Amino acid sequence: MFDFDNAFVRELPGDPEVGSRLRQVESALWSSVMPTPVAAPRLVAYSREMAERLELTEADLNAPEFAQVFGGNALLPGMQPFATNYGGHQFGHWAGQLGDGRAITLGEVVNAAGERWELQLKGAGPTPYSRSADGRAVLRSSIREFLCSEAMHHLGVPTTRALSLVATGEEVVRDMFYDGHPKPEPGAIVCRVAPSFIRFGNFELPYSRNDAQLLRQLVEFTIRRDFPELQGEGEALIAEWFATVCERTAVMVAHWMRVGFVHGVMNTDNMSVLGLTIDYGPYGWIDNYDPDWTPNTTDAQGRRYRFGWQPKIAHWNLVRFAQALTPLFGSVEPLEAGLQRFADAYTAAERDNTARKLGLAECRDEDVELIVLLHGLLHAHEVDMTLFFRALADVDLTAPALAPLATAFYDEAKRQAGEPAFLGWFAQYAARVRDDPLSADERRARMLSANPKYVLRNYLAQQAIDRAEAGDESGIHELLDVMRQPYDEQPGREIFAQKRPDWARVKAGCSMLSCSS
Ligand code: AMP
Ligand code: MG
Repeated sequence: MFDFDNAFVRELPGDPEVGSRLRQVESALWSSVMPTPVAAPRLVAYSREMAERLELTEADLNAPEFAQVFGGNALLPGMQPFATNYGGHQFGHWAGQLGDGRAITLGEVVNAAGERWELQLKGAGPTPYSRSADGRAVLRSSIREFLCSEAMHHLGVPTTRALSLVATGEEVVRDMFYDGHPKPEPGAIVCRVAPSFIRFGNFELPYSRNDAQLLRQLVEFTIRRDFPELQGEGEALIAEWFATVCERTAVMVAHWMRVGFVHGVMNTDNMSVLGLTIDYGPYGWIDNYDPDWTPNTTDAQGRRYRFGWQPKIAHWNLVRFAQALTPLFGSVEPLEAGLQRFADAYTAAERDNTARKLGLAECRDEDVELIVLLHGLLHAHEVDMTLFFRALADVDLTAPALAPLATAFYDEAKRQAGEPAFLGWFAQYAARVRDDPLSADERRARMLSANPKYVLRNYLAQQAIDRAEAGDESGIHELLDVMRQPYDEQPGREIFAQKRPDWARVKAGCSMLSCSS
């Protein structure tokens, strides 16, 4: 079915001990560990696009063997399961060894086009890195990871992908809000897929242990396998690689800001060196525009991972990553140059967002002020980010009015209070548009390709979860299908493009989530 080329385990030092006994693993970057079999694996959903990339046929997907393999009960020839060893800064503090506690890579597939795709099960049972946890995942969080990975891909946001969602037929006990009310929930396993799952934390761990040799091996491997396009050698090559990671991270976060995605747990162990969105946990989507919002109840106090702080947290994480690479450099200047690449790339990407979201040919300095002003209005008057930007393309700028945008407001009193300020902003915007070379049609097309109509609102995912837990999985398939064309109108599916209903404002899963999943 697949051609495997398991470079990570072939080329990098592994742990001599096999199996899931909990331990500190020194001088090794991975440990051999088998998925733990489950009672009754059953394929709940798969991504058609990802299956195609992996050259899987309908027959492959529907064969009983598929659920056995992607539920962790069987291996295909060539699979070599392992968990990787990494550390990380969690909520601003060094946390020591973490590692793949419930993720087990099955192998690296190389398809006919020469693309490398690592297949990784999430929730496949304990590993040496599971610490006090069980290595499992619940259905609700697996549905969320599965759907969001694919939704982000279709939105054009760099992300890890999801191939399959398999129900295990077993229960997993979770205390959803850490409030002393554990209960059994259905378990599931997602097979996630990416060219590489290497994280900042994979480099931080050998650095923290003063293991410069292991660090160097991992850096050289990562450049060779995952960044073959980079030229040069020695320190200059590593510097160019670090700068590239900085640039990709900037581009990724700028996309998050464009579509209103809040990662929720931007710990350094959840930052991919490929600049992919990784580890979908208590993530969320902005409904009413609020830079201070975080979906993560575990982070409710300091709200470190709030929407508006994502760029500066990404930078903070890159500084930790840079620190981990210092043993490979004679001075810090090349690393500082890399961090500057982040700042420059983020500024450029943010300006590009502004131009695209407002339908302008390019972003001028005064347009930066224009968008800052608009964000302030959206925040102050409780306006839905997605609905507002989508509808903005249809505002008649010769006679601007707030009426076509009324559905984007959550509070009628705030809408009325905000009307003069919005009309003032429209006047400024209209003047700017008159001074722009794009035609009306070009402007509209540009806006509609940057401002999605359909995003995976928290309450939509939760509705699909509630239905699935009650035995009806069709909501997952329906939502997956809607999220396939987020920039298209999709007549008849408007129900998926509405603002958050009032009942969802404070409901668990719709407005707040914990890390316990
Ligand atoms: P996260 O907050 O999901 O990024 O996880 C942080 C660390 O905890 C990682 O090392 C995970 O592998 C580990 N972890 C999270 N949930 C579980 C679980 N249910 N079983 C084992 N390890 C887990
Ligand atoms: Mg993680």
